[in-house]
Amino acid sequence: MSINVLVIDDSLSSCRILSEYLMQLTVNRVEYCTCGGSAIKILTRYSQDYHLVVVDLHMPNMDGIELLMQLSEMGYKGGIIIASAMENRIIEAASQIVINSNLRLLGSLVKPVSVNQLKLCIERLFMMETELSPKPATMTVDELQHALNQDKVIPYFQAQMDAESGDIVGFEVLCRIQSGNQLKLLSPDSFIEVAESHDLLNLLTEKLLSKAMVEWSQICQDESCINTSLSINLNPSQLAQASWPNKLLKYCDENQVDSAKITVEITENQALDQQSQYSSISRLRLHKFGVAIDDFGTGYTNLTQLCRLPISELKLDMSFVRGIHLDPLAQAILKSLQNISQNLGISLVAEGVEDLRDLNYLERIDNLRLQGFLICRPKPFTELMRWLKAHKKVGNAKLESSRVNSDKANSNRVESGSKVKAVITAEHSDDRRSNYTI
Ligand code: C2E
Ligand code: CA
Ligand code: CA
Repeated sequence: MSINVLVIDDSLSSCRILSEYLMQLTVNRVEYCTCGGSAIKILTRYSQDYHLVVVDLHMPNMDGIELLMQLSEMGYKGGIIIASAMENRIIEAASQIVINSNLRLLGSLVKPVSVNQLKLCIERLFMMETELSPKPATMTVDELQHALNQDKVIPYFQAQMDAESGDIVGFEVLCRIQSGNQLKLLSPDSFIEVAESHDLLNLLTEKLLSKAMVEWSQICQDESCINTSLSINLNPSQLAQASWPNKLLKYCDENQVDSAKITVEITENQALDQQSQYSSISRLRLHKFGVAIDDFGTGYTNLTQLCRLPISELKLDMSFVRGIHLDPLAQAILKSLQNISQNLGISLVAEGVEDLRDLNYLERIDNLRLQGFLICRPKPFTELMRWLKAHKKVGNAKLESSRVNSDKANSNRVESGSKVKAVITAEHSDDRRSNYTI
């Protein structure tokens, strides 16, 4: 599906250049408006018609910050790109609006903007708006039911790493299904919706968790993973069911796992206002489970609302992480989230770390966990055990050499981030042997 864009900029020549660039991308129609007030009038009446707005921050009469606030008040759900000659003060103000509102910010670009920067932002919109992205072939109910009966649910584990030390701090379990006679594995896009709409999601999750808990207990026997946690995904509809906290306690009992080591991830793609969801989160926390808000920044819950929930972790969506080294606004958002999460005593995770330049930036942020293909692709148990071995080998070697270097410099400091880079080496040495990695 292609998208319609409204460019809001008081300079007519900027409007024309941006429109020309946008038309080179997967954009259906671009309109422009040189006055913030008129733009608000158009968007109030026809907001559904515009999937994306590009906003300049310096404009006479209504400036871009006021415009963002009005878009937030009207509940505008499309993507927003800020394109401006920006100063720190403005970036700071814009980051606070984005954090405290429900706006979907795709990027903050310093003028002159390039086509490639716009392309990255539009890719982010496609990532956030699943209805805009092409859908993979989905399983039929019968295929899914058959796969569940045949026990074809396979847990894939993706490691999370502490940005500073490079230690593995946890794993997220992601569901894969082997379908038909093919060896090919299907990803959740192909079956979660079908499972949910045909009342099969609980069965699927139970099958996944019973395998994952056993495998993860074995993973924890590896000395580098003794203190790791396991994160699992529940859909908001599951969270609303009173039975889930007890089910999870049962799995913990059976596998002699401390509930404090299990984190339940929930997406905020449906507003978290239902009383039952609030009480489920509280019940999970009472039983010492962790609760993470997944994909933060793409949904309908803003930070003020989140702070009222007894959550233990915030996962910043990958759309904010991709390209963060180039994006001053995404950097300001991450820094604010880091302050807030530190004050609230909750963990902060950056998802979707794919790019070495982004990693170089993220490594310098305190108290941040990293998850992404660059560090560890999701993998099945046996492959993960191999990865752990490779990780240990390169990690130790790298630490040794850092120690020698720091001894030489007559200092005890181990070079920051050296272990994370070592892990990447492990990921890539592992990739070459992999038959399964998705
Ligand atoms: P999620 O919970 O946000 O999980 C992260 C997704 O991002 C995973 O996709 C993972 O493979 C992918 N990912 C991780 N690192 C990177 C990266 O660096 N770059 C990119 N491009 N992608 C990365 P996956 O496994 O396809 O899962 C998609 C979604 O399906 C998950 O998003 C989650 O919402 C849902 N899901 C997965 N397993 C389960 C499950 O057991 N139950 C439920 N209810 N939902 C599940
Ligand atoms: Ca998740
Ligand atoms: Ca996520």
